[in-house]
Amino acid sequence: MRVLLVEDDALLGDGIQAGLRQQGFVADWVRDGVAADLALEGGDFAAVVLDIGLPRRSGLEVLARLRARGKAVPVLILTARDTVDDRIAGLDAGADDYLVKPFDLGELAARLRALARRSAGNASAALTVGALVLDPAAREVRWRGEPCALAPKEFALLEAFMLSAGRVLTREQLEEKLYGWGEETGSNAVEVHVHHLRKKIAPSVVQTIRGVGYVLPRDLA
Ligand code: CA
Repeated sequence: MRVLLVEDDALLGDGIQAGLRQQGFVADWVRDGVAADLALEGGDFAAVVLDIGLPRRSGLEVLARLRARGKAVPVLILTARDTVDDRIAGLDAGADDYLVKPFDLGELAARLRALARRSAGNASAALTVGALVLDPAAREVRWRGEPCALAPKEFALLEAFMLSAGRVLTREQLEEKLYGWGEETGSNAVEVHVHHLRKKIAPSVVQTIRGVGYVLPRDLA
């Protein structure tokens, strides 16, 4: 799951990015409001972690501009302890959740998973498509009740497919969900991961739509 982190404090940002990566997120990090605006115009993020006090453009302004553009991506705002007004203004401006600094990285990760899940229309923690179940918190995949051991990128790819079950995704769309900025992407990385998913789960788990992309069928059995 790819998230955008917007935080100007170098130490805190570094810690959050490392923590999110450890939890299996692809986490891109920008340090001011203008860079956040640019990133959100182009990028395909499952959620945004947004500090309020930012240089060049405040977090609230970034949020207002994002919602004005009609983007529904879930946003979790970070606020200082004594700024209840910021939290109210943030929620009113379209934030979906907030955390007060300092916070626990495990809690941040859990809240991001919950936000992404709800925005994809899933109320329960695990994603289920037919006989396939993926639990993002436990980082566990089961096919017909049997556990499947997946590498981190394979897990992320499967999660992206399951969140869009029945929809064809192009290789570019999948790469975008799988790799952060500056991460090395082999030209056939998606193909290789799809190959491994078919081998480790079932040949039918991902179908190739020639010349277009890939799809995880909704009626997987
Ligand atoms: Ca700040």
